[in-house]
Amino acid sequence: MAIRNIVKVGDDVLTKKCRPVEKFDERLNELVEDLFETLYASGGAGLAAPQVGVLRRVAVIDIDENPIELVNPEIIEVSGEQTGAEGCLSNPGKYGIVTRPQCVKLKAQDRHGEWHEYLGTDLLARAFLHETEHLDGMMFMRLVEEWVEVEQ
Ligand code: ZN
Repeated sequence: MAIRNIVKVGDDVLTKKCRPVEKFDERLNELVEDLFETLYASGGAGLAAPQVGVLRRVAVIDIDENPIELVNPEIIEVSGEQTGAEGCLSNPGKYGIVTRPQCVKLKAQDRHGEWHEYLGTDLLARAFLHETEHLDGMMFMRLVEEWVEVEQ
């Protein structure tokens, strides 16, 4: 396992659409492990593969010590609305108010290729959308209504 370098805003890699994972091999296992290790080292809630320069549809999320690995994630359904502060490890130290759905149903494979369905609310719903958007080269800044100071 290794902590990888997190790409910052302005790097082209963050604007690219990632390719689906087709091989569930040792290389994917290593990527997922490294994403978790890099996430834990930086104290964020989620991290997507393009943020470490890998253009594959892989992301990890950990909120309240509940690690979730997303391989080839697909949003199934969204409902409701929430407004709150959101940040990104590729845009360090900056938080913006973003309105997103309150509930998100998503399906994704794990590192072994097994499909799982997840229902996320509040922060988890926000993370599902934020990380899935990274895989399509989109960042949350386009949704920010107002930039705010957040106590760390
Ligand atoms: Zn992000």
